Amino acid sequence: MADIENDYAKVSRRDVFGLGSAALAAATLTMVGERAANAQQSASHTAPNEFNPGQVNGPLAAENPDSEWSPSTDSGTVKPFKYSFALARKRVESGGWTRQVTARELPISTTMAGVEMRLTAGGVRELHWHVEAEWAIMLYGSARITAVDQEGRSFVNDVNKGDLWLFPPGVPHSIQGLGPDGCKFLLVFDDGNFDEFHTFLITDWLAHTPKEVLAKNLDVPPSTFDKVPKRELFIFQTGLPGDLKAEQAQGALGTGSVPKSYDFKASTMKPTKVTRGGEVKIIDSKIFPVTPISAAIVTLKPGGLRELHWHPNADEWQYYITGKGRMTVFAAGSTARTMDFEEGDVGYIPISNPHYIENTGDSDLVFIEMFRTSEYQDISLAEWMAHTPHLLMNQHLGVGMSVLDNIPKDEVVIRPV
Ligand code: MN
Ligand code: MN
Repeated sequence: MADIENDYAKVSRRDVFGLGSAALAAATLTMVGERAANAQQSASHTAPNEFNPGQVNGPLAAENPDSEWSPSTDSGTVKPFKYSFALARKRVESGGWTRQVTARELPISTTMAGVEMRLTAGGVRELHWHVEAEWAIMLYGSARITAVDQEGRSFVNDVNKGDLWLFPPGVPHSIQGLGPDGCKFLLVFDDGNFDEFHTFLITDWLAHTPKEVLAKNLDVPPSTFDKVPKRELFIFQTGLPGDLKAEQAQGALGTGSVPKSYDFKASTMKPTKVTRGGEVKIIDSKIFPVTPISAAIVTLKPGGLRELHWHPNADEWQYYITGKGRMTVFAAGSTARTMDFEEGDVGYIPISNPHYIENTGDSDLVFIEMFRTSEYQDISLAEWMAHTPHLLMNQHLGVGMSVLDNIPKDEVVIRPV
């Protein structure tokens, strides 16, 4: 073993980079045991100063190649900006389950929090409300959603995969899975400290109000409330809802329906931008008037790049729906960090910190960008370069005047164009 250590000591990282492939293969052949296994993880990181003795968590390293060996452009300490729903505890009830990623799990995510929820066919997320606005996207199946606004106006509708809803702060609502197999969806709230387990539930409230007060409130006998559950239902199994049109008419009797719909059919919306590299749907209050939260739903084809950019008006909360990608966040002061993302991962970028997202897999990468602002805004590196005097830009970067002249004048959003 001592001899092998000595062999390695003669080969610095710089030397390895300078070796021809034959010499590199010969160097690799001298490896034994753990060392060979370690080298297999990344053929270009075989020098002794990069060897990681002892046990390694192979699957986690394989999922996070840019953490295992970061690009040489990464530098310094950047606050962690990734957390996976796969690490969050599921609360399982008779009608489904839920789990959350908030500022408690991901401390940098101060402005927004996310919740995944699965409801069976007939499973109900109990009637409730909360201080925060609730934005949602249906990921699987269908649901019936209901709400009542401050004028007593009713909202009842069915939402399908890819569609959105927005419940304003304080507006009471419910979600119920439909046939054949219920649904799964993502909720996003406009406060990082939101807690799905501390919302105002109708059963919890009534269980903590004197029965004689409930009786007086509705002018009925106290025994009317004998069957109110002693503990919250939260998510529970029951039968499927009634006919949609009949339930809409019942809710609207006397007061009518909400004037601006709480749902948005993003599944059938024409993309805001399409390029060879993918497409983006931008949904903010310009087209979904009730929302105080703006969103971009991005699809990157293999090799596609969400171009270098930043957002001048809000932090960005991300959720990865499918595929594999990586993102580098430049945090100023010569600090930058690259992390890898896949389905169920949450990413977070503070306001005005520049970043890109690259599809590193062999299938489409689909993710959403969320912002606690009603108006979506971004500034891209390319549009900055195109619209600054080219002489001045070239004096900084030396890329050549023709490169600057050829940058498209309109923001491309996704490369290749
Ligand atoms: Mn809610
Ligand atoms: Mn962004």
